[in-house]
Amino acid sequence: MENCIFCKIINKELPSYEVYSNDYVYAFLDINPVNYGHTLVVPKKHYENLEEIDERNLKELIIAVKKIGKAIKDGLNVNGYNIGINNGSVAGQIVPHLHFHIIPRLEDDGIKLMPQRKYIEDKASKYAEKIRRALE
Ligand code: AMP
Ligand code: ZN
Repeated sequence: MENCIFCKIINKELPSYEVYSNDYVYAFLDINPVNYGHTLVVPKKHYENLEEIDERNLKELIIAVKKIGKAIKDGLNVNGYNIGINNGSVAGQIVPHLHFHIIPRLEDDGIKLMPQRKYIEDKASKYAEKIRRALE
C-alpha cells in the first residue's frame, strides 16, 4: 500500500535491520527498542489490523512469531519475551500495518506491564455476556 512505512520497508524502499523473511512474513528490528533485539513481525501483504487478515496469512504470521521468539531466546540468551499487538489507534497503534512486537525481557529490566484493576459489583458477568453475544 502506498505511503505505508512498513510496506516500503518490505519492498526495500526504506532500510531496515532484517531478521527473517519468507513468502508471507518479514521481520526486522524496531528502530526504537524497548530492549535491544525488539523485533517487529509483519505480514508482507498490507492489512491494517487483526480483524482484516485472512486465516492463511495469520497462520503464517503466528508461526513466524513463534520461530523468531525462539531465536530471540537462543540468540540473545534471554529467558523470555513479551509478544504484543497494538490493535487500533486507541490501543497505541501508530503504524497502520498489522505487526507483532516481540520484546526480549531481561532479569530486572524494570519494565512494567499495563496496570490491572478489579471488577466491581456484577461487571465481570455483564462484560463476559457482552463478548459472548458478539461471538454468536
Ligand atoms: P505501534 O505503536 O504498534 O504501531 O508501533 C510501531 C512501531 O514501529 C514503533 O515501536 C516504532 O518504533 C516502530 N517503527 C516506526 N518506524 C520504523 C522504522 N522505519 N523501522 C523500524 N521500526 C520502526
Ligand atoms: Zn503496509
